[in-house]
Amino acid sequence: MDNVAHIPSYLSAEHLGPWETYLVQIDRVEPHLAADLRPLAPILTRPKRALIVDVPIRLDNGEMAHFEGYRVQHNLARGPGKGGIRYHPDVTLAEVMALSAWMTVKNAVVNVPFGGAKGGVRVEPKTLSLAELERLTRRYASEINIFLGQDKDIPAPDINTNEQVMAWIMDTFSMNEGKTAMGVVTGKPVSLGGSLGRKDATGRGVFVTTVEAAQRIGMSIAGARVAVQGFGNVGEAAARLFADAGAKVVALQDSTGSIHNPGGLDVRAAKVWSLAHHTLIGAPDSEPIDNADFWGVDADILVAAAMENQITTANAGRIRARLITEGANGPTSPEADLILQERGITVIPDVLANAGGVTVSYFEWVQDISAFFWTEEEINARLDRIMREAFAAVWDAARAKGIALRTAAFVLGCERVLAAHQMRGLYP
Ligand code: GLU
Repeated sequence: MDNVAHIPSYLSAEHLGPWETYLVQIDRVEPHLAADLRPLAPILTRPKRALIVDVPIRLDNGEMAHFEGYRVQHNLARGPGKGGIRYHPDVTLAEVMALSAWMTVKNAVVNVPFGGAKGGVRVEPKTLSLAELERLTRRYASEINIFLGQDKDIPAPDINTNEQVMAWIMDTFSMNEGKTAMGVVTGKPVSLGGSLGRKDATGRGVFVTTVEAAQRIGMSIAGARVAVQGFGNVGEAAARLFADAGAKVVALQDSTGSIHNPGGLDVRAAKVWSLAHHTLIGAPDSEPIDNADFWGVDADILVAAAMENQITTANAGRIRARLITEGANGPTSPEADLILQERGITVIPDVLANAGGVTVSYFEWVQDISAFFWTEEEINARLDRIMREAFAAVWDAARAKGIALRTAAFVLGCERVLAAHQMRGLYP
């Protein structure tokens, strides 16, 4: 990998994880960049700034606990930093760096005026009480406060964070500023300057881009068999929208296991079950299957909406779907990407497929700043249009250049970022 030379000294070369995936993606894109922008590509191979913070909190039992927190601003050339905050025991600096870089590319692909950023805390939130979670969130928000602001860096939800966490961040920042600062974070509750349509937006973007791709490869959504990995905010909404459009959701997987019904699962009933039992296993009219067998399920469409590095050399050869949509960030390893390409499977890449979330985050930020709120119809119509146009631009570029959709999406996004650098010039 050419870019290994660019690994910053603060990362261990043996444990690059998702950052290595991102560097390989940049390597694959570089030859396709416009000749005048190509020399600027190394800008993309390092984050602009990264903040590592200690997050000490008082536990309910009186003891003190320490958690590691991060906020990385990968690139700010096109606007303030934008990207979610993840709470997960596997969070590392390298992971947050990769997620922030994918935000840079994603925001440019859908052309929202943001740079890329991401945050995370290395914690298993299931082990915390609600009061501990609030203290963790408020202390983390205070520690990264120097990065934040509606014109500097705007967080949003990601894995294991939600509108309540966003409300606490907004309140903590507002208290420190001495004024209510709505636009500092998105994915807030609607009662607090949040946007209608934000909750389903990522899943909706996944659905809309899949419909666009299906049309182009001659696949009908009505009757299509869909397997969805991940049943959180993204996977659940996507599965529901597919079912509502007449597709058959034949398999679902969450962090506790996988379920299957070749005749189609009841997605709403599965959600009710999962909320009550904290697992999909046992949901009405479903059979549990091994997680390994989930990948070989007979399906036309596979939605990967869980985590990074799920589609790998271990399962890429067994996937039967003709179309894969990446609802998660970085779910496909670079090696698996080549196998899927070889097998003629169409992959709608994360930086396009899951950009619906940040697109409605942009709408939320605009509504907060202008203190003027839109209807859900307006929001969904604008979201659908942006997703369809971005999809068409990526599809057409992929066709014209004979490259994969991921490479085409990266070319579009990276060229927008590098063009901004070129025009701004190098300071001083
Ligand atoms: N965490 C989401 C993502 O990965 C949303 C980011 C945002 O809305 O800022 O795209």
